[in-house]
This record gives sequence, structure tokens and C-alpha cells, in this order.
Amino acid sequence: MNQWNRFLLVAVIFGITIIGLYFLQYYLSPVERISYYEFKVLAKKGQVENLIIKKNEITGAFREGAAETLHQLRKKPVKLPPYFKTIKAEDPEFIKILEEREINFEVRAEATFWITVLSWVVPILLLILFWLFIFKRFVSPEGGIMSVGKSKAKIYVENEIKVTFADVAGVDEAVEELKEIIEFLKYPQKFTSLGAKIPKGVLLVGPPGTGKTLLAKAVAGEAGVPFISISGSSFVEMFVGVGAARVRDLFAQAEKMAPCIIFIDEIDAVGRVRGLSPAGGTEEREHTLTQLLTEMDGFDPKKGVIIIAATNRPEILDPALLRPGRFDRVVVVDRPDVKGREAILRIHTRNLKLAEDVDLKVIAARTPGMVGADLANIVNEAALLAARKGKRAVEMEDFEEAIDRVIAGLAKKSRYLSPEEKKRIAYHEAGHAIVASVLTPKEKVHRVSIIPRGIAALGYTLQLPEEERYLYTKEELLAKIAVLFGGRVAEELFFKEISTGAQNDLERATEIARAMVMDYGMSEVLGPQTFRKREALFLDLPFKERELISEKTAILIDEEIAKTLKLCYDKAKSIIEERKEKLEALVEKLLQREVLEGEELAELLYK
Ligand code: ADP
Ligand code: MG
Ligand code: ZN
Repeated sequence: MNQWNRFLLVAVIFGITIIGLYFLQYYLSPVERISYYEFKVLAKKGQVENLIIKKNEITGAFREGAAETLHQLRKKPVKLPPYFKTIKAEDPEFIKILEEREINFEVRAEATFWITVLSWVVPILLLILFWLFIFKRFVSPEGGIMSVGKSKAKIYVENEIKVTFADVAGVDEAVEELKEIIEFLKYPQKFTSLGAKIPKGVLLVGPPGTGKTLLAKAVAGEAGVPFISISGSSFVEMFVGVGAARVRDLFAQAEKMAPCIIFIDEIDAVGRVRGLSPAGGTEEREHTLTQLLTEMDGFDPKKGVIIIAATNRPEILDPALLRPGRFDRVVVVDRPDVKGREAILRIHTRNLKLAEDVDLKVIAARTPGMVGADLANIVNEAALLAARKGKRAVEMEDFEEAIDRVIAGLAKKSRYLSPEEKKRIAYHEAGHAIVASVLTPKEKVHRVSIIPRGIAALGYTLQLPEEERYLYTKEELLAKIAVLFGGRVAEELFFKEISTGAQNDLERATEIARAMVMDYGMSEVLGPQTFRKREALFLDLPFKERELISEKTAILIDEEIAKTLKLCYDKAKSIIEERKEKLEALVEKLLQREVLEGEELAELLYK
């Protein structure tokens, strides 16, 4: 039992004690039961007061001298609590006595039967519920009385999956690798009779929204087998035994339904390296993980159950999960390239009415780095926009707006920019565009906008590569840096002072320069060597500093980065200085129109 559980136990016991004491005091508050005769004697002597007279019962408080009177009557010493209770008799004298002795009294209607019942039953029920609640938390599910694992497990079983590989695009390699699994699920005997080793588990690894869940479903859909899924994060319960019980449930269900697919989403939630997490709940997660490993080991793959898991953080997984006989296959589901994006867009626009001018190729080119989920989102957004405007088909303009929305949050055309700020942004963006038009002819400037969007970006200049790029030469990287500087240079030249607007540009420029020096060996002074290394599978994960860089080298690196940046800055400056008129023309148009693209932009930039 870990700290948290112990704390909870103490809190619960404390709470129950308090409640118990309260009721005890309420129901057993000391009252002396006296006979009606005794009561009458006391009343005659004026030794009672504050009576409450009900139909069958009288209660009230003793007054001084009552103890002595009762002592005489009972012939033995009595120790009296402050209150008494007696059964009421039919007695015509009664009220007269009270009046004579000036005893204060009050007549009350009898508490009804229901009130009595409720005043007893409700607290008892509450107590029982409370205990049940605690039991649910602490009784191990093996107890058999309350199967917590079963009752609370968020295990989803889908029998008829309609998703197939036709619904997935842009991840062809992953699809190829998964096809074999389908064969196996469909014709297990074909594999087993040959003595072929059957995969037990497949780990899908990729950034969020690339279609991992979709792929797992498609495998089930293609093979026509049930799909049993659970999310790793739902395993992680605060209370002991629950997670492990769910794992057992999961495998028990799967065994009954074989052939089938078990899908564990977000497996990193349970599958972290053991013994490393600083947070609480660790122990429980480790139980769950251990149980998962045990179940996987004990599972006979011939039964036709394939376990597919998904994660976007493979680097934190416990290596034990990746050992043979467990998730021994890792399938990378990467971000789609431009062709893949086009194919994904085609899938999602299948059931849409598209206007003539919609070109999915252009949309795909406009969305580098986006994943399937983003693209699905864009299509949906575009359809909504078109519907809102009452159009009969979705037009390119709707897609453009949808992309902008998805890229930078909702368009905020109403956001106020002072004319001065707007002018500054126009110069800044025009500066980027001019430098780009000169230095990076292969990546045409597609669009320049000074409409503020979201919080961070005030405007943007968008360049589109003619084809997907995987390699850049040193020259091209230097050009990229110069383009990033273009905005700041233009501001500096025309406003004589610089603003904070270029922060992100500088950051990106610095990162490129750093990579050139430290990762790509492009510095002549330092020569062809790297100073950082990548830690994990994904290219977009950050670099990690190599541990040993001498102080001298560190200084050299800094110098080289600064030198590279200065070179590019001067380049951008000379380009813009030579094209002041062109820039002014562009700025003027931008201030008018806010967004420039297509022919019009090409006319201004490239003529
Ligand atoms: P992940 O599990 O990798 O986070 P999902 O499979 O949940 O991503 O993807 C979410 C949605 O995005 C899918 O339901 C689908 O509509 C869309 N999507 C994602 N990737 C693709 C893809 N490769 N092809 C088609 N649609 C995709
Ligand atoms: Mg998913
Ligand atoms: Zn900029």
C-alpha cells in the first residue's frame, strides 16, 4: 500500500469515527426514565421544568431537589442526568398541577411514523453506503464479492469494424507491415502448420493524430475480427489491484473472443520505465505493467489474438515491453509527406461536394508537417464554413480559411492593430518575402498576410517548396537564415528601431545556425564532426548535447554560430537595400489588401 492509500485509509477512519460519535451522542444522550407516579410527585413539588408533552410521552428537565425526592421514593441514592422521560397517563389533574406550580410546558404533536423511521434509517443507510464505497476501493478484486476490475473496466469491444485500409492513407509502409498480421488473423493454421513464428504484439509508434488508432481498427476491419480496446491511461488507477485486474479481464475477454485484436492505446501511461517516476501511483502502475508482461508471456499466440499498442513516446517505454515474445514488432507511423497528405485529403473529401476550383494538391502543399487528424479537421472546418455561407459546394476559399484557422487558431479579424503596428508588420513581412524571392527561388512565396491570427503570429509569409525536401545544402540553409532575418532588417531600415516582433524569427535562425555548426559539420573552423546526438526514433525530437565538449570548443561553437548569423544578416540587409522600391510597392499593396497571393503576388515579387 502506498502513501496515498494509507492517507486515504486514515482519512476515512477519521471521518467514520466523527460521524459515529455524532449519532451516538444524538441517540444515546443520557435521559433518566422515571415512572408517571415519580413524575407527578416531582411536579407537585415543582422540581421539573420545560416540559414537552407529546401524545404518549413527556420529557423535560429536572430542577433542584429532584435527586433527593427520587432518592426518598426509590429508597436508594440516584445520580441524575439533566433530563427525564416518562410515559404519559390519562390524568385530568395533570395540567392543573402544572399551572399551580407554574411549570413551563409545551404541547407537541407526535412525530409521525415516517419521520421516526427516516431519522433512523437515513443515517444507517449513509453509513452502509460509506462502507461499501471504502470496500470497493480496498477489497482486492480476487475477493470475488465485488469484482472491481470488471465493473469499472473501460474495455471497449467492437464486433463489426467498418474501417479498412481504404480509409487510411499516407502511411503506406506501416500498412505493408500490418498486412501480414491480417493474414495471420485470417488463416492462423497456414502459419502454425509451417511452424512459423507468429508475432504476439505490434507497437505502433508515431506522433499524435497520424492514424495509429485508425490503423489498428483497419487491421481488425480487414481481418473481420473483433476489436477489444482499452486506453493505457485508464489502467492507471489510484487504488491497488485495479489496474492489474483490468489487464486480467482484458486477456480473459480476448481469449473468449479469439481470433481478435487487443488494442492498448497510450501504452506509455502504464509502460514507463519502472522505478523512475517521481510521482505517486508508481507502485500501482508497476503492478499493472508486470501483470501485462505476465499475461503476454502466458498467452498462446496460436489462439489468434494479436496485441497492438500505440504510443507517441517510445523513448520512455520499459525495455521489457520490447523483448521478444512481447511487442517484438515496432511499426513507425510517421507524418505524411505531400503525396500522403493529398491522399488523406482525398479520403476525407470523399463525401463532400467540392467546387471546381478546389485543388487538393495545393492544399497538401500548404500543410507541411500536418498529420491526418489535422487534415480531417481542415476538411471538416471547410465544409462547415461553406455551409454557413449557404454555398452549394465547398470552395478553395473555404479551405484556405480553414487552413488558416487550423494553423493559427481562429482568425481574429476584429483584433485591433494600430495603423503604426500594421505598417510595421507589413514592412516586416515584405522584408521576408523580398529576401525569399531572391535567395530561395525553389521555394516560391505563396502568400503574404498581415492579418493577425492567434496570439503569437502577427503576420506571416508562406513559402511552398516545389517538391518535398529531405536534403538541404549549406547554401540553402544560409538562404533560409537570411530570409528569417528579412523581417527584422526591413523594420530596422524603415523604422530606425527594432521591435519585439522578430523574436520567433531569430530563434529559428539561431537554431538553424546551431544545427549547421553542431550537427551537420558545416563549419570550416570546427570541421566535419557533430557535437550533439539524437536520442530517439523521431526526427523532430530535440537534439541532446553531447556530454563532453571542452570549454575551448564551446567558445568556438558560439563564435561560429555568431559568424554564420552575421553573414546571413548582412546578406539580407544588402538585398533589401537594393530593392527599396520593390519593398515599398509590396508594403503599399499589403496595407490595402492585407493578404496577397497567387498571380498578384508573383507580379510584385518576381517580375
Ligand atoms: P492517433 O491514434 O495516431 O493519435 P487517430 O487514428 O486517432 O490518430 O486519428 C484521428 C483521426 O484523424 C482519424 O480518425 C482519421 O479521421 C484522421 N486520420 C489520421 N491519420 C489518418 C490517415 N493516415 N489517413 C486517413 N485519416 C487519418
Ligand atoms: Mg489514438
Ligand atoms: Zn518574421
